[in-house]
Amino acid sequence: MDALTHTCSGILIGQALRPLSMVRRQTLVVLGLAALAPDVDVISYLWGPELYSRLHHAYTHTIIGVAVLAVMLAGIERTWVRGIGFARLVILNLAGCSVHLLGDLIALWPLRLLWPWSGHDFALRWTGDFDLVVLVVVGLATGLAATDGLQHRARWILGAVLLILAGYFWWFPGAAGLQ
Ligand SMILES: [Zn+2]
Repeated sequence: MDALTHTCSGILIGQALRPLSMVRRQTLVVLGLAALAPDVDVISYLWGPELYSRLHHAYTHTIIGVAVLAVMLAGIERTWVRGIGFARLVILNLAGCSVHLLGDLIALWPLRLLWPWSGHDFALRWTGDFDLVVLVVVGLATGLAATDGLQHRARWILGAVLLILAGYFWWFPGAAGLQ
């Protein structure tokens, strides 16, 4: 899944959580960052595509990798986030990172979720690693849920997104992105 869809999916979850208005913006930033964070392994591309193809989805896209990432992010964020405690930050980051794993799980590039206990590769292959339809649906929903008029309907919007995507994957399996 691409970076924009990941980030929007995290923000959308935050919008649906209905955080208090005083911490709303921070919550959305934390969740947006967390939903992007596991892709930090793309920096391995600096050392060449071969290393990237070996490391991408291998460590930061595992259950243990996400747990470590969530604690690290919460530790950094507690220095500038006000009104959200460390434990809550860890939970928010876990939620955001988990949404990222789900977004990647439905695509093609396999995830070694259970590393180091198992080297099994997980990939549902419902869609490609980039799917314009998913991006448009999730991006549009995030934008709608950010408007004043629809802010309080964010849970319904999230529900509609899940229904639309479920239908899309069911009736048009791999319509976009699958070669
Ligand atoms: Zn990823």
